[in-house]
Amino acid sequence: MQKVPFVDLKAQYTAIASEIDEAINRVLNSSSFILGKEVEQFESDFARYCGVNYGVAVNSGTSALHLALLACGIGPGDEVITVPNTFVATVEAILYTGAKPVFVDIDPLSYNIDVNKIEEVITKKTRALIPVHLYGQPADMEPIKELASEHKLKIIEDACQAHGAEYKGQKVGSLADVGCFSFYPGKNLGAYGEGGMVVTNDREYYEKMKRLRDHGQSQKYFHSEVGFNYRMEGMQGAILRTKLKYLDQWTEARRKNAQLYNKLLKSSKVVVPQELRFVKHVYHLYVIRTEHRDELQQYLWNKGIATGLHYPVPIHLQKGYTFLGYKTGSFPVTEKYAQTILSLPMYPELTKGQIEYVVEGIESFGEL
Ligand SMILES: *Cc1c(COP(=O)(O)O)cnc(C)c1O
Repeated sequence: MQKVPFVDLKAQYTAIASEIDEAINRVLNSSSFILGKEVEQFESDFARYCGVNYGVAVNSGTSALHLALLACGIGPGDEVITVPNTFVATVEAILYTGAKPVFVDIDPLSYNIDVNKIEEVITKKTRALIPVHLYGQPADMEPIKELASEHKLKIIEDACQAHGAEYKGQKVGSLADVGCFSFYPGKNLGAYGEGGMVVTNDREYYEKMKRLRDHGQSQKYFHSEVGFNYRMEGMQGAILRTKLKYLDQWTEARRKNAQLYNKLLKSSKVVVPQELRFVKHVYHLYVIRTEHRDELQQYLWNKGIATGLHYPVPIHLQKGYTFLGYKTGSFPVTEKYAQTILSLPMYPELTKGQIEYVVEGIESFGEL
């Protein structure tokens, strides 16, 4: 039986092993295990890649979101608007600051924040918006920016799934006050461990986030405020710097894979992803929908095809989040989608034969 994994990190390492090994050796020989030259170089390379002036490398996407919120001055008593269908970290970061997360349902076509439903939840306490570029497709930033300027709100992009994605020709991370990225190994640009980055054009935000990630120090052992240990490791900086050169090539491979899925699934009854006209989707995930999701997932598993659910339970219905006061029915689109979405195998090295095998599997499943 053929096997199609959900992701294959080994395939990517194998393709560039000698360069990666060399990068790791540079760090071993310099003994710059925390921050250091490699990390600094990666910060400026990645900031330039995003089209912004500054990057602050941190130890996860979650830390990136937390620092971005703090730089924007978010704290207790404030409200921050985001979506309930995201990875939990978006919401955790808001709660770390003492602010209250306020949810808006998603747009049925893009799976991103429904821009028509934002205004109704804005209150006197609202301070910021966190649009999530879910699955690698940018949120509709123009109306979001209009609302933000009208109501004097900060915007923080959660671009943790969208490295290199574009909105009207501009890269994500450069579309708002601060952009946040994760380099978790399975992300489009993945470290060999934990990693993240905040990017911004604002010099004051940059300096504040740089201090906060390193115990609030501006100079060794001089702490101008209470900070955190959110530093990136030297090894991850060296690895990510090496991998960044391949990101566009990997993105094109993902987009080609998505196009092939789209084409082959055309006559099937599953709903395929819609790429909006004015964006460049980078397909961190390729997510279909079907009413028979659980049966299809099991059926594909029996054929050696691994799939995923992103995400099976919306944040507002998670046990740890009932204190937010939402209930079943609060966000109908998100709730319906949580029961019908299925993420198919997606990574740059996926072959045509593997995609055909997945599609054959879906087509041979009768109940659709
Ligand atoms: C991965 C992810 C994060 C968190 O990143 P970590 O590096 O795992 O902390 C935040 N938001 C979204 C949408 C993500 O996919």
